[in-house]
Amino acid sequence: MKQIQQLDELQDWVQQETSVGRRRVLVPTMGGLHEGHLSLVDIARQQAGKEGRVVVSLFVNPTQFGPNEDLGAYPKSLEKDRQLCEERGADLLFAPEADGMYAADASVGVSEGRLSRGLCGGSRPGHFDGVCTIVSKLFNLIQPRAAVFGEKDYQQLAVIRRLVRDLNYPIKIIGGPIVREDDGLAMSTRNQYLSPEERSQAVVLSMALLQARQALDGGERDMLRIRGLVERVLSGSPLARLDYLETVHPDTMQAVEEPGDALLIAVAVFFDSTRLIDNLCWREEG
Ligand code: AMP
Repeated sequence: MKQIQQLDELQDWVQQETSVGRRRVLVPTMGGLHEGHLSLVDIARQQAGKEGRVVVSLFVNPTQFGPNEDLGAYPKSLEKDRQLCEERGADLLFAPEADGMYAADASVGVSEGRLSRGLCGGSRPGHFDGVCTIVSKLFNLIQPRAAVFGEKDYQQLAVIRRLVRDLNYPIKIIGGPIVREDDGLAMSTRNQYLSPEERSQAVVLSMALLQARQALDGGERDMLRIRGLVERVLSGSPLARLDYLETVHPDTMQAVEEPGDALLIAVAVFFDSTRLIDNLCWREEG
């Protein structure tokens, strides 16, 4: 596996790969890799085929962090991440230096104005502008045929689909299912911030969503009752502080009064200063 840090080296590599007609599939990450990320690398390999190139980018993007968030503390494990990517069969790890991606006086960005307003965008103002900007930069630099994003960040996936549609990127966006720990907790780089007590209580997120799924599958359509069910399970953890619980359409992120053919239940919960998110995307069968 090749590793590149410098932008000009990346551009030379991309040009060379393009000249021999090899397709690229991109998996953007912020590092601290776990099985959730690596499952996306597997999907990228399927898409790229044996001849194509799987590119993993690893960059803790400062513009998507708010002033009081964990940018400085975000876990860094480049050597371990490199090994994991290599073992999983990625072809290129693009890991630019912290100040390598933005000019000091950068003044152009990409902003999405509809899907990104609520949920995580509401709790983290400016977050999705940072995401759209860095993803656009990666798309422009790497020019992938396809890119893989996790359903763990469902709103992000919807925003990126909109970005690609509205800016006409010729890139297929693929969503990968949420990978969970044995007890149901969605894997996240931020799980390592949790104390043992918080970690054991963090299971309430997935438990609450599982109960909501069972209720929906059992025919429950009363949104207040579904939300009440989720809130009740979450309140079973004394350490959990609800940031948001939203019931929206998974494609538009607009609030729904009653579940039609599709429903996204998205939750964000603080354990002390650690913010965890999870979601359930439910679609009527058939
Ligand atoms: P991050 O490094 O947190 O920015 O995540 C990079 C990519 O991995 C994003 O597309 C995430 O949605 C995805 N991802 C993170 N955790 C998981 C998970 N548990 N299951 C599936 N995808 C995930």
